[in-house]
Amino acid sequence: MESNVRVRFAPSPTGPLHIGGVRTALYNYLFAKKHNGTFILRIEDTDQTRYVANAEKYIVDALKWCNIPFDEGPQKNEKFGPYRQSERKDLYKKYANILLEKGWAYYAFDTSEQLDTERKGHEEKGKTFIYNWHNRQKGRLVNSLILSEDEVQKRINSGDKYVIRFKTPQDEVLILEDEIRGTIKIDTNTLDDKILFKSDGMPTYHLANIVDDHLMEISHVIRGEEWLPSLPLHTLLYKAFGWSAPKFAHLPLILKPVGKGKLSKRDGDKLGFPVFPLAYKNEVSGDVSRGYKEDGYFNDAFINMLAFLGWNPGTERELFSLEELVQEFDLKRVSKSGAKFNPDKTKWFQQQYMQTKSDVELTDLFIPILEEKGISIDKNYIQKVIASIKERAVFVNDFWALSSFFFVTPSEYNAKNVKKNWKEGTPDLMQELIKVISLIEDFSSENIEKVIKEWISSKEIGFGKVMQPLRLSLVGKLAGPHLFDIIAMIGKEKTIKRLENAIKKL
Ligand code: GLU
Repeated sequence: MESNVRVRFAPSPTGPLHIGGVRTALYNYLFAKKHNGTFILRIEDTDQTRYVANAEKYIVDALKWCNIPFDEGPQKNEKFGPYRQSERKDLYKKYANILLEKGWAYYAFDTSEQLDTERKGHEEKGKTFIYNWHNRQKGRLVNSLILSEDEVQKRINSGDKYVIRFKTPQDEVLILEDEIRGTIKIDTNTLDDKILFKSDGMPTYHLANIVDDHLMEISHVIRGEEWLPSLPLHTLLYKAFGWSAPKFAHLPLILKPVGKGKLSKRDGDKLGFPVFPLAYKNEVSGDVSRGYKEDGYFNDAFINMLAFLGWNPGTERELFSLEELVQEFDLKRVSKSGAKFNPDKTKWFQQQYMQTKSDVELTDLFIPILEEKGISIDKNYIQKVIASIKERAVFVNDFWALSSFFFVTPSEYNAKNVKKNWKEGTPDLMQELIKVISLIEDFSSENIEKVIKEWISSKEIGFGKVMQPLRLSLVGKLAGPHLFDIIAMIGKEKTIKRLENAIKKL
């Protein structure tokens, strides 16, 4: 049964979604699902100057890849739609007017030059200019609190540019509640009269956000810490409208792996990891940013890693499927302090998930890579290869480097290994070994091992003298899984050919 828990992820389409944004979406999703609620996507595109055309598609694609689909949003169950603020434009003016009528807002006609002069004047005196009760009625600022009604109408009718500002009450202490941070007290005298409605006919984020959260019946606002400073204004707006406010939870910042501050794209570029879920091409500069998907991460590993950036289940356990995260997630276990991003830990999650994938699933991912190399081989064979290399793989893209010798004869031999292990007597020994191998009938790994080891013992020479050159001949270097498994896998004929090849080439 659906509950009345309704949460929204409300990104502004200004570019690709940073992993901080994805984490906000994820926590909203987990919270919604845990409480049988509804997860909503709302596109907050009222700032036309920062609008980027392909960003909304990117956001939708990213949520899809992360496997955290929204229940309502653009083109989906538009019960409270539209879900794009630019398409709700006409609605907001009505609400700005309500605040004007109630005396919670006022028109301001100050030009940006006038405001700059004010700002500079304050700075010269070592003060900061705040547009609020300190100065809004002192005469230097031009607004409907000091102009006559006639004058205000005249200015509006003649097309004078205006904004609508919120009239912050004076001398009040706001007691704010945050699900993660607890009680926060704010003196309203420190707040400025934020613009609610802009001269371009668009609402600002603050007005649109509150109106939509109310109309869309949002029960919990779960968003990044950077919006905490807006909480006093938002709380006042609910009061001004006479609406009950949703509950708020402000998530901790995701911090740089080294040094101080918020994780940025630059940190990723510098240290070599993506900060976006999907690769992103900037249409203006042509720059392409890396994405976790394209870098080869599994979406479930990525999500598990993200879940732990600011939350923990209170136990040592770290691996959780999405369903398990839904069960475990609790805002009470979200930390107040910032979460340091750890690229190594991200890889660790990926490696753990690699081990949990079935050989069949991984085989399907490996086949296209093999096909590109012109290799088409029985699926069962590939599955066996996967089983023997999986442990050492982090990404699907590692498979080839870890297993090429299962498919092709080495084209080169590691020079250092050759120098150390391919000695004068080696070719003769390998010739003899070819004979031994050609006589083996039961070509199972265990039997091959038994026969070759017995032969080495009978010759009374060190194992390494045979085993190392043999491995070099088959693999091209001293690496790879259990040697007798490789021999059994590639078969008698290929083993002998590779030995002959090495004798010829080395
Ligand atoms: N549009 C805001 C953003 O881009 C949403 C903040 C909120 O969730 O209230 O993050």
